[in-house]
Amino acid sequence: MFTRADALALDADDPLAFARARFSLPVGLTYLDGNSLGALPRRTATRVGDTIAREWGQGLVGSWSEWFGWPAKLGAKIARLIGAGPDEVIVTDNTSVNVFKLAAAALSLRPERRVIVTEAGNFPTDLYMLRGLGSLTDIEVRAVAPAEIAGALDEHVALLWLTHTHYRTGAVHDMAALTAAAHAKGALAGWDLSHSAGAVAVDLKAAQADLATGCGYKYLNGGPGAPAYAYVAGRHHEALTQPLTGWIGHAAPFDFGDDYAPARGVARLLTGTPGVLGLAALASGLATFDGIDMPAAAAKSRALGDLFLDLAAEHCPALEPACPREGRGAQVSLRHPHAEPIMQALIARGVVGDVRPPDVLRFGFPALYTRYVDVWDGVEALAQVLESGEWQDSRFAQRRAVT
Ligand SMILES: *Cc1c(COP(=O)(O)O)cnc(C)c1O
Repeated sequence: MFTRADALALDADDPLAFARARFSLPVGLTYLDGNSLGALPRRTATRVGDTIAREWGQGLVGSWSEWFGWPAKLGAKIARLIGAGPDEVIVTDNTSVNVFKLAAAALSLRPERRVIVTEAGNFPTDLYMLRGLGSLTDIEVRAVAPAEIAGALDEHVALLWLTHTHYRTGAVHDMAALTAAAHAKGALAGWDLSHSAGAVAVDLKAAQADLATGCGYKYLNGGPGAPAYAYVAGRHHEALTQPLTGWIGHAAPFDFGDDYAPARGVARLLTGTPGVLGLAALASGLATFDGIDMPAAAAKSRALGDLFLDLAAEHCPALEPACPREGRGAQVSLRHPHAEPIMQALIARGVVGDVRPPDVLRFGFPALYTRYVDVWDGVEALAQVLESGEWQDSRFAQRRAVT
C-alpha cells in the first residue's frame, strides 16, 4: 500500500523539486488550484515594486521606451513553452478579446466562408465571443460534441476553434490531427491554450496550428487578471488583419496619423496601451519556467494526477472520475452530486481545489510547485471530509460567488 512516506520519497527523488523555491506559498496549506490561479512567484513583489518605484517613480514617461518592447519580449518567452517561433507570439489584452480578434482574423483570411466550428461545452467565453462576433455579420457558429468535430468540417468552414485542454474534464484534444482535419477542408485551426501552456507539452509548429491564445494567470503564474497572449503562424503574418485596430497596433503609433496602417506581424494584434504592472508580474511568472524542460514538467504533472486518481479510487470510493486517464492535462476532475459543499469542507481543512457546476471537483497539479506529498495530503483530507460527513454542516451550504 502506498503511504505518505512513499510520497515523501518521490519528492526527494524529484528532479523538478528545486522549482518550488521559486514560489511563495502559505505554510500549512495544500494548494491544488494552480489551474485556476497560479501561485505567487517569490520574486513578483520585488519585480513589480521595482517597476513602480524605479521605472515609473524615477523614470516616469521615459520608461515607455523600455516598456513598449515588453509585449513582444514576453511573447517570445511564452513561445518557447508552446512550440512557436519567438516572433509569432505577442502578449496583449485578455483571452476573451484575443478569441474575438483571432476568429475575426480567420474570417478575413477565408472571406468566402461563413462558418466557425467549435465544441459544445467549450469554455463559456470562447462560445460567447464567437457568437458575439457572429452577431456582427452573417456567421454561423456550429458548436458540436467532441466526437462530431471532424464530421462538422466542410468547405463552408473558415475556422475550427477549440480549447486544447478542457477546463472541466482536463481532456486534451489531438491538436495535430484536428488541425490537419481542418486544413483538409481548407479551414484554419485555432486553439485556446489557457489550460495547456505551462501545463502540457504543446508544439504549435509541429501541429501546423494557425492561431492560438491563452491566459497568463493559470499555469504561467502571471497573477490575477494577468495579460493574455496571442499566436499567429508566421505564414499568415503578411495577410493578417483584425478589426480591433487600436493605435498601439499601428505601424507608427507616434506619428499620430488619421489612417490606420498595421504594425508588422503579430504586433498588429495589440490594441491599446498595455497594463505595465500586469506585464511586470507576468514577466516574473514566466521567469519561473527558466531552465525548465516543458515535456519533463508535463510528465511530472501527469504522474501527480495519476497518483491522485489512484489514491482517490482507493480512499474515496464515493467519487467518480470525470477526467480521462490518458490524454489528460495537468488536472484531475472527480464527480460527486454534492461537489460544492464537499469542496468547501475540504478548503476548511486547508486543501484548496475548486468546483465546476453541477458536480465536478477539480484539482490542479502544476509541476513547478506541487509535491507528491500534497497529493497524499489532499486525498487524505478528502477521504476524511467524505467519511465524516462534515460537508453536510450548514456552514458549507451556501454557494460561493467566485469559485
Ligand atoms: C481561463 C480561461 C479563459 C479566460 O479568459 P479571460 O478573458 O482571461 O477571462 C478563456 N478560455 C479558457 C479555455 C480558459 O480556461
